[in-house]
Amino acid sequence: MQPKELLTLAEEFGSPLYVYDATTIEHQYNRLTAAFSKVENLRINYAMKALSNITILKLLKKCGSGLDTVSFQEVQLGLHAGFTPDKIIFTPNGVSFEEIEEVAKLGVQINIDNLSVLEHFGTKYPKVPVCIRINPHVMAGGNENISVGHIDSKFGISIYQIPHVLRIVENTKMHINGIHMHTGSDILDIEVFLYAAEILFDAAKQFKELDFLDFGSGFKVPYKKGDIETNIEELGKKLTKRFLAFEKEYGRTLTLAFEPGKFLVSEAGFFLAKVNVVKQTTSTVFAGIDSGFNHLIRPMFYGSQHQIENISNPKGKERFCFNHLIRPMFYGSQHQIENISNPKGKERFYTVVGYICETDTFANNRRIAEIKEGDVLCFKNAGAYCFSMSSNYNSRFKPAEVLWKDGKGHLISKRETFEDLIKNQVVVEV
Ligand SMILES: *Cc1c(COP(=O)(O)O)cnc(C)c1O
Repeated sequence: MQPKELLTLAEEFGSPLYVYDATTIEHQYNRLTAAFSKVENLRINYAMKALSNITILKLLKKCGSGLDTVSFQEVQLGLHAGFTPDKIIFTPNGVSFEEIEEVAKLGVQINIDNLSVLEHFGTKYPKVPVCIRINPHVMAGGNENISVGHIDSKFGISIYQIPHVLRIVENTKMHINGIHMHTGSDILDIEVFLYAAEILFDAAKQFKELDFLDFGSGFKVPYKKGDIETNIEELGKKLTKRFLAFEKEYGRTLTLAFEPGKFLVSEAGFFLAKVNVVKQTTSTVFAGIDSGFNHLIRPMFYGSQHQIENISNPKGKERFCFNHLIRPMFYGSQHQIENISNPKGKERFYTVVGYICETDTFANNRRIAEIKEGDVLCFKNAGAYCFSMSSNYNSRFKPAEVLWKDGKGHLISKRETFEDLIKNQVVVEV
């Protein structure tokens, strides 16, 4: 999206604001399916915890996507958005047995990542097919907080416990119809992914009635210049080849499933916030915006580096006074002025901070086109895990969300109001 379009949306819908570009989401979905076009049965289940707005869900449904869910409420939202239960997979961790039962009763595919739950479920519902989540113990992921495949991770059934899984299956006569892994976000190295896939294939051989193999996600998208991006096309080629060979060996056609979140929606998102104050201290120039980690927590929580652009001053233009041009003074004409010797304009180093009464730093000493109070800053890659992780801390409203589609901004969730802040509070006169 162009800075001008974003700026217009900030004026129309107010600040702070989340904007999602529909075309980018569709493009990413199509890129993924194209990379695996040789697989007969491909299934993409969008990991909706990344961004769970109903209109976004509908957009992905239109693309042909299924859903990956982690809570009963996400399942409900998915059904509400029009997904049928057979298009939804439930991959929870650490939820109650009752929650799993409730979801299973809706006809949603269950994915179990714990031996005791597997045994309990198989005993009670031997006829309900179940997928198992394996932990292949492959260290992948860009960050300790989001690496979920390592040996001490709370996720998945250890690959070393497959004999116990087989014993449970034998005892309960339950039906395992899928095997799943999700080694963590930010896979940098395709070879690591393929190595983990081999472990999954190996485990899969031991189950005779599989319908699908689910390779999870963790596709990396670039956040800042020079970042590595998962080469989906190369992964598609290599994994397809291996998958087709495995299918032959297994003697049965299988569905290949993925459940990306970030890959589908991260780059489609822009977070817009207005600069309230520019503050020069002895060592730093702060740009303080009308937001904080209540709206965008990834920089503080994961150390994520979202690119920041000053869209009010996209080229860092400077103002000049020309001796030989009288129209501005005489007629008040406003000639657009660009510094063509310095087309990128003047940039300065800013530390971008929020308005929360705690240290909430979005970026440290970042080069940004010169900022004036009232300018609108745009944070890139704000589609995944941004709005969905927002809160009301400091009693602030959650921002509005807008979908940019067919050259227009469509409001897809309203800015909160004071009513929203108090609606669940029960006031006791004390
Ligand atoms: C969060 C999650 C995903 C999505 O991960 P991304 O890095 O956003 O693609 C996929 N599968 C499971 C089980 C998850 O919990």
